[in-house]
Amino acid sequence: MEIIDYLSPNYNERAINDGILPDILVIHTMSMGLKESLEYLTFPSNEVSSHYVISEQGLIYRLVSEEFRAWHCGTGKSSWRGKDDLNSFSIGIELIHSPSSLFYPSAQIEALIKLSKDILNRFPIPSRNIIGHSDISPGRKVDPIFPFPWKALALEGIGLWTDDFISNDNKAENMLKQIGYCTKDLKEALKSFQMHFLPDNLTGEEDEKTLKRLYALTKLL
Ligand SMILES: [Zn+2]
Repeated sequence: MEIIDYLSPNYNERAINDGILPDILVIHTMSMGLKESLEYLTFPSNEVSSHYVISEQGLIYRLVSEEFRAWHCGTGKSSWRGKDDLNSFSIGIELIHSPSSLFYPSAQIEALIKLSKDILNRFPIPSRNIIGHSDISPGRKVDPIFPFPWKALALEGIGLWTDDFISNDNKAENMLKQIGYCTKDLKEALKSFQMHFLPDNLTGEEDEKTLKRLYALTKLL
């Protein structure tokens, strides 16, 4: 796998104890073109970056070495499974995605799959921690832009997926929390869940389909 170095000064030391490895993989999209995105993520005063950028043609750029803390989650603005300093615990991948594109080019998704498998060989990242920016920032972020091929990734062993619906008496809020979502704004958390796990039902509501899919997901944890 060929990786092109395009290094960013926007990183610092991971604020984690020695021996603890990143255990979250966060997928994003950038709506700017490739050149503009690379410039944006490497311009010092922007104070943002990611470890990798993947072009629509499937070229992989490395901006920050995995051992360092890239700045892709926002500080104190994201949360997953109760953790909030997600930059310290994660690897971030940005996909270039023009807002006018209706789908993700197959070369780009193939490159993402290769890179993710490579990362999963290096770090103990559980499937439930392979997530999108929208999963960790409900109501604030909507990337990776919908519809993202989460199911195709899961079929390659990258992330969780289920097609099941299972009846249950649980509360949506409890199941969302169990999966990892911050539920301060329940409607937004439901929308983020649906963008990822129930793409044909973007209601933001605790409807029957959502409750059943939520429960089916918790069975995989
Ligand atoms: Zn993002």
